[in-house]
Amino acid sequence: MKKILSLVIMIGFFCGCNPDCVTKMPNKEGNRQISELFTTDIDDAEMVFNVSVFVVYHRTKPAMSEVSRDLDKSVAEANSFSDKIKFKVVSSKYVKHNAILANIRQSKKKEDDLCTANDVEGNINLYIVRTDNDLEGYTPVLQNNFEEYPTLDGMERVFVSYGGLSDGAVFIHELGHFFGLGHTNECRNYMSYNCYRDTFDANQRTTILKFAKVYRSYLHQ
Ligand SMILES: [Zn+2]
Repeated sequence: MKKILSLVIMIGFFCGCNPDCVTKMPNKEGNRQISELFTTDIDDAEMVFNVSVFVVYHRTKPAMSEVSRDLDKSVAEANSFSDKIKFKVVSSKYVKHNAILANIRQSKKKEDDLCTANDVEGNINLYIVRTDNDLEGYTPVLQNNFEEYPTLDGMERVFVSYGGLSDGAVFIHELGHFFGLGHTNECRNYMSYNCYRDTFDANQRTTILKFAKVYRSYLHQ
């Protein structure tokens, strides 16, 4: 019986583990806060988030033309799901650093080592980083107490691998996390993985817009 139980736990563990994105999900209290948003009235004004881009390389500098093409595709995708929320790249620069995605998500120290000197206050800081595995993206998020976002350092970072950037749907997936979303298994949904993705459902769109208004208001114009 014990063996069966541990097998079930192991299967659950592996199924719950997403190889492509390891961003934390809202917990029970976080989900309560998010469901409360649905009864919160928000104004209808458009939100614009400025994005500062950092192209992180180690030995070989990637061609900016290639990065720009993939970045344009990812940003266009992020701007396509709602008229009420827009993302505008306001700066991009190269950063020479040996960071790789898997290390960043395992170590806040490594994350800060790359980001603290580069983060632009008031913007979403998008770091395009190298990866040595299937990991495509990572976003440091709170699992609850979202009202603390403006008081904390380094919570405006989104990490996308070069491969993830060329996919086009990874940046918008990470932005989904940035605005309170967890994962889903619905294929084609931006918050799923291992399949083609091109849509949010109505609940997710509402969550993003309300979360952005209420908990990320310190960032939008
Ligand atoms: Zn994810």
